[in-house]
Amino acid sequence: MNEDCIFCKIANGIIPTKFVYESANTVVFNDINPKAPMHMLVVPKKHYATLNDLDDKELMSELLQSVKEVTKKLNISDYKTLINTGKGAGQEVFHLHIHILADKKS
Ligand code: 5GP
Ligand code: ZN
Repeated sequence: MNEDCIFCKIANGIIPTKFVYESANTVVFNDINPKAPMHMLVVPKKHYATLNDLDDKELMSELLQSVKEVTKKLNISDYKTLINTGKGAGQEVFHLHIHILADKKS
């Protein structure tokens, strides 16, 4: 848990947030500034600044599994996923997250 990290605070319940989906080591919540009708973020509970810092293969798998589970739960079959890695690629929040973007709301 990184005290200065907004996604650590969300993922660990310090900032109350409705989770669309939760697994043992990940949470999924809506993006505060959606860029599509459906825009969610899949976030590990543990702090990793970027994908480059993630060394846990089981967690890598769990993150993608959460993408599949939450889209299935919401009945979304068509969606984009995106991971921005590094400032130069547009990363603004330095706690690893996978964007899920879809054109329809469930
Ligand atoms: P990045 O550019 O780092 O890949 O994306 C960060 C995303 O986090 C942006 O889409 C932004 O709207 C979202 N975001 C930033 N702060 C918050 C917040 O406090 N709550 C939520 N739900 N989303 C946030
Ligand atoms: Zn964090």
